Amino acid sequence: MTRPLRFAVIGAGMAGILSAIELRQAGFDDVVVYEKADTLGGTWRENTYPGVACDVPSHLYSYSFAPNPDWSHTFSPGPEIREYLERVAREHGVLERIRFGTEVTRLERSNGRWTVEAARGGREHVDVVIAATGVLHHPAYPDIEGLDDFGGAVFHSARWDHRVPLEGARVGVVGTGSSAVQIVRALAGAAGRLDLYQRTAQWVLPVPNPAFTDEERARYRAQPEAMRDLREELSKTFTEGFANAVVDAESPQVKMLEELCRANLETNVVDPELREKLRPGYRAACKRLIISPHFYEAIQHPNARLVTDAIVRVEREGVRTVDGELHELDVLVLATGFRVDRFLRPIEVTGRGGVSLDTAWAKRPTAYLSISVPEFPNLFMLNGPNGPVGNFSLIDVAELQFAYVMQLVERLAEGAAREVCASQPATERFEAARVEAAQKTVWVTGCRSWYLDDRGIPAAWPWTMDRFREEMAAPRLEDYDLVR
Ligand code: NAP
Repeated sequence: MTRPLRFAVIGAGMAGILSAIELRQAGFDDVVVYEKADTLGGTWRENTYPGVACDVPSHLYSYSFAPNPDWSHTFSPGPEIREYLERVAREHGVLERIRFGTEVTRLERSNGRWTVEAARGGREHVDVVIAATGVLHHPAYPDIEGLDDFGGAVFHSARWDHRVPLEGARVGVVGTGSSAVQIVRALAGAAGRLDLYQRTAQWVLPVPNPAFTDEERARYRAQPEAMRDLREELSKTFTEGFANAVVDAESPQVKMLEELCRANLETNVVDPELREKLRPGYRAACKRLIISPHFYEAIQHPNARLVTDAIVRVEREGVRTVDGELHELDVLVLATGFRVDRFLRPIEVTGRGGVSLDTAWAKRPTAYLSISVPEFPNLFMLNGPNGPVGNFSLIDVAELQFAYVMQLVERLAEGAAREVCASQPATERFEAARVEAAQKTVWVTGCRSWYLDDRGIPAAWPWTMDRFREEMAAPRLEDYDLVR
């Protein structure tokens, strides 16, 4: 017996597009993708700052079913990634399934189905919800006094105001994360003056970013197997050299990463005073590693200045630092990161028995294998809480998670169950093991980072990528509540 299922996919970013394609592939045609914005692309739509790029190699940061011979660079720029997502969505018939400008505000479990409510009105009933709402989505604004008093333009890195002229302008950038570093690289030399306000120095790994030649692109077009080989090689290098390394603070690979970062600092920063200001006081890869072959060159540009005195407040003319200096600015960019504990919130989600997701996550977000929450049946998250978010290509992660979810969905379609969600004991067991394993990772070796939750536990997958692949291969049904 097959039961027809109706699906709501929330979000038309990388994971939502993937879901729509894979559902159709599996023969599920009753699918609506809800997208609050007017275009697709998720993080690649939101982050349009100068210099935006992906620091996962492009041939790895691609759908496995849609290799792209035309990537311009090893690490391609953001607009190219957004175009790739748009093209894949178009070619796979996803566009007609997306309801643009439709922000989901409530999800409620009633009569064995999910009611989906949108901000612009209307309610629909579906059997399965796939939350593809992203991780680094809600900007975190710093609590700096006087931000509203600033006379120039001020915006978050993920809300870039392209109307503001930059050429010749005095630009300040707050933060030294991956976003800030890419912005500094793009603006040093273009802006009249560039101040980087550093609270914490970063380790920087100088991985080169060569462009693919026309011959290489032609070869990938003519021989897709060469592209597949490249992807496999990149995956192996990334897994062994990074993903599997960061979960073991004592691994030789982490030490090697640190040596490479240290050599970059020693060799490429000329002024000893600047070098010391840029030298982090914690282990490499404790914070998300910065990948940039150009950051040190950019910060040493005659127009660039590294400001390490703490910001006291923002005034009409600029930024006042603790040494009393007023740094006069025309533009202030807040590259201050994201609220990483939101996931599908602020959507109000009410599960079985009237339990709200806010209540279930009152302490902090948790989910069995990042995918399923007890009492929220038939709701599956891609790139949900505590997944391998900083360790690997999130496309690969989402594909593995989706294939896992599909095995549960098949049970629903076959009529083996009407409802499925992780059991409470299995979720608690998983979470306890995760917290314990996190103690071995490099993320807890003494730094502040967005990985750490309010207890200082990394909100991430603390095991190897190989283990993640094994876990995703097939659900352990005994860990699930299946209601017939
Ligand atoms: P982030 O890594 O969270 O960095 C935020 C920065 O803002 C930190 O340097 C932080 O300082 C600083 N900051 C926050 N509040 C501040 C305050 N009140 N005063 C002064 N400084 C303050 O954010 P992000 O750079 O947007 O990157 C987030 C993640 O997005 C990355 O780790 C990465 O996973 C992803 N990303 C990836 C790429 C890519 O190439 N794939 C590009 C951009 C982003 P502290 O360090 O002192 O806390």
